[in-house]
Amino acid sequence: MTIEDRQHMDELVSRRHLIEKVAEDLGLKREGKHFFCPSCHDAQPEMVIKDGRFQCFRCGVVGDVVGLVKLARHCDLENALEWLSREIK
Ligand SMILES: [Zn+2]
Repeated sequence: MTIEDRQHMDELVSRRHLIEKVAEDLGLKREGKHFFCPSCHDAQPEMVIKDGRFQCFRCGVVGDVVGLVKLARHCDLENALEWLSREIK
C-alpha cells in the first residue's frame, strides 16, 4: 500500500457515517441503533455505532471502521484495509 493509498484511507475512515454503511456491507444485523456484535454471537444487539466508532457493551470491544472490518472478517489490518478500499470508493 502506498502513502497515497494510506492517506486516502485515512480520509475515508474519518467520514463519520462510513462505519454504518460498512457495518451493513459486512452483513451485521441491526435493531434500530444497535448492532449484533460479531464476536459475541449473542441474541441481543449490544453493539453501538456512533461518531465513526463502535463499542460492544457485552464484550467491551471498541474501535473504528478498520477495527470493525477486522472483527467481522477475522482478518488482519492489511486485509481489512484492502477490503475497505475495494468496498468504498
Ligand atoms: Zn461483543
